Amino acid sequence: TNLLLIKDQNITMEDKLDLINVDGQDTFIFHGALSYEPKCCTNCGCMKEGNNIVKNGFGNPLKVALLKISECPTYLRLKKQRFKCRECNSKFCAETSFVQKHCSISKNLILYIMKNLSKTLSFKDIAELSNVSVSTVVRVMKSCKEAVEVKTHSNLPEHLCFDEIKSTKDSKNGMSFVFLDAKTHDFIDIVDGRTQHILKQYFMRYSRKVRKKVKT
Ligand SMILES: [Zn+2]
Repeated sequence: TNLLLIKDQNITMEDKLDLINVDGQDTFIFHGALSYEPKCCTNCGCMKEGNNIVKNGFGNPLKVALLKISECPTYLRLKKQRFKCRECNSKFCAETSFVQKHCSISKNLILYIMKNLSKTLSFKDIAELSNVSVSTVVRVMKSCKEAVEVKTHSNLPEHLCFDEIKSTKDSKNGMSFVFLDAKTHDFIDIVDGRTQHILKQYFMRYSRKVRKKVKT
């Protein structure tokens, strides 16, 4: 778990590591199992009391793609505990933060793909570095669209309040520009930098019509 940076303590690793040859490529296969005492049934929501939710064996192992090790594709064959709820007579599977539901690549690998997406690399380069398909790289990129999208460019208030603030260490500019709606005091955005050039570039993202709405 230390080597693979698995933080979920419900995952236990088997004392076994396979090195197999897949189409001429050395490939590592780790083996692990995910199990815990569930707090409640994921179907009917009833809390676990006594024997109303019982363990019900393991499903087929999930093949989870991990970060490469020594340049070799690496996978974890993860057995997931199945549970049976006697209240609603349904079955459900153990879940982990290490691999999202319905996903076959680890969170760590997704973060690695995201990190590479911020660099000047082609989808194909990233796919090769991460041992996933190009379509997976594109899917990861689309999944973070929401988080990185700047949603403030559609409108500006009539009156702006702004100030300069000291930037955080990850900024190359010493000072940042912060602005808000003078009437509502609603925060609008922080701009990395406060020079004319940076601010002009920033505000030019708004349409001319929107910019002309600003009076003071
Ligand atoms: Zn249930």
